Amino acid sequence: MSSTLRSNFLRTQIQADLDSGTVSEVVTRFPPEPNGYLHIGHAKSITVNFGLAEQFGGRCNLRFDDTNPEKESQEFIDSIQEDVRWLGYTWSGDVRYASSYFQQFYEWALHLIDRELAYVCDLSADEAREYRGSLTEPGRNSPYRDRSAQENRQLFEAMRAGEYEDGSRVLRAKIDMASPNINLRDPILYRIRRAHHHQTGDAWPIYPTYDFAHGQEDAIEGITHSICTLEFEDHRPLYDWFIAHLPVPNTPRQIEFARLNTSYTITSKRKLKLLVDSGTVEGWDDPRMSTIAGLRRRGYPPAAIRHFCEEVGTSRSDSVVDVAMLESAVRSHLNNHAPRAMCVLQPLKVVLTNVSKTEYLTVANHPADDSMGQREIPFGPVVFIDQSDFREEANKKYKRLVVGKRVRLRGGYVIEADSCKKDANGEVLEVRARVIENTLGVDPADGIKPKGVIHWVAADTAKVATVRVYDRLFLEANPTKADDVLEVINPHSLTVVNNALIEPALSSAHPEDVFQFEREGYFVADRHLHSPENPVFNMTIGLRDAWGNDA
Ligand code: ATP
Ligand code: MG
Repeated sequence: MSSTLRSNFLRTQIQADLDSGTVSEVVTRFPPEPNGYLHIGHAKSITVNFGLAEQFGGRCNLRFDDTNPEKESQEFIDSIQEDVRWLGYTWSGDVRYASSYFQQFYEWALHLIDRELAYVCDLSADEAREYRGSLTEPGRNSPYRDRSAQENRQLFEAMRAGEYEDGSRVLRAKIDMASPNINLRDPILYRIRRAHHHQTGDAWPIYPTYDFAHGQEDAIEGITHSICTLEFEDHRPLYDWFIAHLPVPNTPRQIEFARLNTSYTITSKRKLKLLVDSGTVEGWDDPRMSTIAGLRRRGYPPAAIRHFCEEVGTSRSDSVVDVAMLESAVRSHLNNHAPRAMCVLQPLKVVLTNVSKTEYLTVANHPADDSMGQREIPFGPVVFIDQSDFREEANKKYKRLVVGKRVRLRGGYVIEADSCKKDANGEVLEVRARVIENTLGVDPADGIKPKGVIHWVAADTAKVATVRVYDRLFLEANPTKADDVLEVINPHSLTVVNNALIEPALSSAHPEDVFQFEREGYFVADRHLHSPENPVFNMTIGLRDAWGNDA
């Protein structure tokens, strides 16, 4: 085990199973239903499942739990594979599908029927609900519960042959209608649904339930540890019941852990879909989305996401993790790995009255990592700085450019402002300034030091870029608590800056390259839209946590 990994109950359990010889090779699986894009919660599950396999020298399958064809699609199958790969994991063998075991599940259903452990029930959904009882009252036996094995087999075969209406009958396990665990009150194994399936087409008019499918999928694949989230804890007795009563080739073991929830985030595919369908965001991979595809498009490095998932730990108690912790993992990764560059978001023209020609300045791409190299940036008679970096007058706390005062241009000379031009409203239109000679990398000879350092671009070589600045998508720390998530949307979550100016080298950035724009934050070249002719950058994250948390 790598020394950076902390112990947790899953690791302890697996180690114990290996030590006792209960298992010889650890086999886990990540089993998404392809009914949406994966989100940050799934990233946790991915790192847990693939991580455990990696750590114990085992393997991890990627299996689509595709038993609900109406809500599933190839788009989701594709995006999920892309997300897992992007996070840095390789699944064992081919991608697997629960649907490829449908015939086996069907035969196992017949196996239960033949042993009088399953029956076809004709109660309507409303009736079945009434018979089920409640948390405080036991259920009652269905009037169809005592059908003979022979009759059940014949009815179930007819269900499979498509002879009955959708919803008219179900196959149920015969367990215990008085069980305090409602999941054991004769749960449904199969429903009649004439739904076209993305993998099996129209071959099946009946579909197994999650409960009947999941453990058997694990058993077929030789999964040793079936790790899932806590809401399945009450299903575990049922999971074990199927494994005990079916001739499965292997006995997987279900272990639950707490879901990952982060503040200001939605971790439900259904609710994320609502944001997409309502047009609140621009798609599943909108950089404001907590989908893995959204985080990717936002410039979050996969290593930072993995690190965060490890840092939050794995436990059995539900909690909400401050999203600032994820942001902090992203920020510290990028601080080490993102090259520096300059981009001016709100340009203000500065005419340098004593500069007449363009020269090239050599600057380091990273202040602490020489291996990232250097680049040449053009400097000339006119530069642009950010509007917020100039004031005609200011007090001592303002460490930027002020008339009569000095600042250093990042990687360049010290300049001193002489005057400014304003419009009728007093808005500054242009600053006139001078370069103080011989100040590249050294303080002015007259001993009057610059007040600070500001970023800039040279006017004649700068390129225009679109920069999309993001804020949190939700106004509430717990958006899922709101009756309607659309009610707590931050109306200012996106600001598009169309006329930002970037240093010329940035236009040849590759999509997904992330930079620290000096003094502004981290920005990524958009995966889909960025090109040298039309540079588009998305804000990944600010330099500091602007939300008052300790990052
Ligand atoms: P959603 O409600 O968003 O659809 P789900 O649990 O229904 O989530 P699945 O596709 O069934 O989504 O999930 C695949 C795996 O990811 C499951 O093992 C599930 O337990 C796990 N998972 C889902 N959400 C989280 C989460 N927030 N934290 C940790 N694991 C999660
Ligand atoms: Mg689900």
